[in-house]
Amino acid sequence: MKRILIIGGGTAGTMLGNKLAKGLANEIVETEICITIISEKDYHVYQPGYLYIPFHLKQPEDLIRPIEQVMDSKIELIIDKAVEINTVAKSVTLKKGATLSYDYLIIATGSHPQSVEIPGLDEAGHIFYEMDRALKLREAMDHFDGGKVVVAVGLPHKCPVAPLEFTMMFEDWARQRGIREKTEITYAYPLAGPYGTASVAELATKEFGERDISIETFFMIDHVDPKTKEVVSMDGTRLPFDLLVVIPPHKGSDLVREVGLGDSGGWLPVDRHKLNLENKEDVFVVGDATNLPISKAGSTAHFESEILAENLIDKVKGLSGNRRYNGKVFCFIETGLHKATYISFDYDNPPKPVTPSKMVHYAKAAYNSGHWVNLKGIM
Ligand SMILES: Cc1cc2nc3c(=O)[nH]c(=O)nc-3n(C[C@H](O)[C@H](O)[C@H](O)COP(=O)(O)OP(=O)(O)OC[C@H]3O[C@@H](n4cnc5c(N)ncnc54)[C@H](O)[C@@H]3O)c2cc1C
Repeated sequence: MKRILIIGGGTAGTMLGNKLAKGLANEIVETEICITIISEKDYHVYQPGYLYIPFHLKQPEDLIRPIEQVMDSKIELIIDKAVEINTVAKSVTLKKGATLSYDYLIIATGSHPQSVEIPGLDEAGHIFYEMDRALKLREAMDHFDGGKVVVAVGLPHKCPVAPLEFTMMFEDWARQRGIREKTEITYAYPLAGPYGTASVAELATKEFGERDISIETFFMIDHVDPKTKEVVSMDGTRLPFDLLVVIPPHKGSDLVREVGLGDSGGWLPVDRHKLNLENKEDVFVVGDATNLPISKAGSTAHFESEILAENLIDKVKGLSGNRRYNGKVFCFIETGLHKATYISFDYDNPPKPVTPSKMVHYAKAAYNSGHWVNLKGIM
């Protein structure tokens, strides 16, 4: 019996596994193929929901489900951590000791904020990219009564638009609480504008300008000084804060960094259309773990997994399986608590945000609730 082995039970691994289980249902019953997912966690978390936690707009229980609930029952699920990959022997070793062989390997191990790389951050700053940290930020905001707020962004990070969303939502929230007049908001970004793509940078510059949110450009975070309550850039610029929210730069998983298949950031080099690991025809990468120059986003994982699932199903059935991923990404952008816009783009067509509206905000809310259906691979 052949095995498709997926490492990572997050958005990409789950969507891909579910699509494969559906497309290869007969082959699984006939024991021609087995689909195995290795997940270090026994639960699935909807990370885009972290954005809403500090504002009390989502609760942790809205975002977490037991992993068996989101996986097709035809998938063999192993709760363990992959610690070694041998692409010559075609095997993966798990922390508890087992070694599994594979015919096709999929690496879907995600991207991870590196707050430890910013000295002082854990002591004096907040992040909303992890559940426990988002809850601490919520507590800090509950007690916030005005002052200097700095949102400082490090690159690269998943969901490139989330820091913009948080900042615009925070501004609305401060107004709603009646503390906007005594609150100064600064958005500190490492590039020449508040975003890396021109059209989104333009949108953010306009929205920030209208709401009196300052932009500090070329701000590469070096450290946080908990004594003086300042965030300090590599060139020595110091931004004082009463409330600091940082999006730390991300890296690939420690597995990728330890097995030496990726670059220094732990990103895996892949063919941008076929998604196979460089020089390997039987190893594929899906979701945030790739080195592709596109957004690390759930929607990227969604569109990639569609292509990869069809190709793998074809290959198992003896067909060629040569559909190509075109870099498609779709992202909603909250521009406050009640309005949103969206961007859709691919390798050849840059994003063009639409005018923010209530309707798009409601569409994002519907998309958030639809995640659990989306994961099943039926949308
Ligand atoms: C605040 C925030 C807002 C966001 N907003 C949006 C949005 O609006 N729209 C959007 O499209 N995306 C958004 N995203 C991004 C989206 O959540 C990620 O891009 C998506 O989850 C990537 O899926 P993935 O499977 O690659 O990684 P993940 O979902 O992170 O899954 C990786 C999984 O691999 C597991 N793993 C890692 N190493 C191992 C190992 N050695 N062994 C076993 N398992 C392992 C991890 O535990 C994890 O479960 C947001 C993210 C955040 C944090």
